Amino acid sequence: MNKQHLTDYDPAIQKAIESELNRQESGLEMIPSENFVSLAVLEALGSVLTNKYSEGYPGKRYYGGCEFIDVVEQLAIDRAKEIFGAEHVNVQPLSGAPANVACYFALLEPGDTILGMDLSHGGHLTHGHPVTSIAKVFNFVRYKTDAQGLIDMDNLRAMALEHKPKLILVGYSAYSREIDYPAIKQIADEVGAMTMADIAHIAGLIAGKQMNNPVPIFDVVSTTTHKTLRGPRGGMIMCKKDFAKKIDKAIFPGLQGGPHENNIAGKAIAFKEALEPAFVDYAKQIKANAKVLERKFNEFGYTLMFGGTDNHLLLIDVTPKGLTGAEAEKALDHAGITVNKNMIPDDPRSPMDPSGIRLGTPALTTRGMKEADMETVAVLIEQALTHHTDESVLQRVREEVKALTLQFPLYPEHR
Ligand SMILES: *Cc1c(COP(=O)(O)O)cnc(C)c1O
Repeated sequence: MNKQHLTDYDPAIQKAIESELNRQESGLEMIPSENFVSLAVLEALGSVLTNKYSEGYPGKRYYGGCEFIDVVEQLAIDRAKEIFGAEHVNVQPLSGAPANVACYFALLEPGDTILGMDLSHGGHLTHGHPVTSIAKVFNFVRYKTDAQGLIDMDNLRAMALEHKPKLILVGYSAYSREIDYPAIKQIADEVGAMTMADIAHIAGLIAGKQMNNPVPIFDVVSTTTHKTLRGPRGGMIMCKKDFAKKIDKAIFPGLQGGPHENNIAGKAIAFKEALEPAFVDYAKQIKANAKVLERKFNEFGYTLMFGGTDNHLLLIDVTPKGLTGAEAEKALDHAGITVNKNMIPDDPRSPMDPSGIRLGTPALTTRGMKEADMETVAVLIEQALTHHTDESVLQRVREEVKALTLQFPLYPEHR
């Protein structure tokens, strides 16, 4: 067995990891689905738990030697139940996408109809976009947002009455408004549909009690653990007791093999963190920071989709300012600010060069940035976008970004 440390054994990989740490530390991470995990979570990810096979669930495994693995997985389950008030939790989904696929197979038969939100209005690929494999298995129909940018409840109800879906799906990747779960549950009951919420983006805001929680209301709720929830890269499913067996079977043996227990340990640690009173402050600050960006971009004359934000993200149409989403992303990249280009509702442009950019505050808030820093960040973004073809301006913004980030060290204990 090779007992050398990474630095000695594989300097090429070690160097790439160090460069990535530098990149994360010296730039402004504003992709709203990204975050920085704690040192404790990082330690769990790099632990010996990665060596163990543990197919099955706590107390019912297909492999021997799982007594400590069971402790880890049960703690993750119990903590998630406490955070969200869930009746049943499965912490094994490898990520958000497989969690969603497992939910569909648990609840439905091939060919059944699912009513979800249009991708360009904020939905996710796994909600039935034609490029996904899952779109070949189930019949996805779509509702949209209204002219004010809110979920069009009349359209949703009309689509539900017309298509009689087996499942109504809410929860989004680029939608910045609160969701009225009881109203959607009422429509689902009217047409006899099951309800599923995908809270991948907003799980941390729900855990921090800053957004509505669908878990007590909906049949099934899927999430990622690595976005606002600030855990390791992974997924999770919560459901009512009636669906527990079906959900567990759909994950294993239906879709996955051995669970990644090092990752599940990381989830358990992140959940412990999310149960601390400080996590409520974190969630509040994420929203307060997003509100500053909303105010500043309105002042600068940008068009905010959905009329603004109730959560951690903003979707901004940049085309009225004379550039495209791809050009904006590239200019900001040069300036050390990471965002992503994104479609706006009914975008006339293509996914590879859409009209908008999507940006958010979870990662910067983890670094300790507050309202005053957001004012600075908004001004830097505005300058980079206004002078997006001027390399000298982008260079100067990059230097200011670097100076700002130096005040908020990331993983100083790794230095
Ligand atoms: C990010 C996201 C997913 C997918 O998660 P992965 O971990 O990338 O597979 C699913 N649904 C929504 C709404 C998301 O935002």
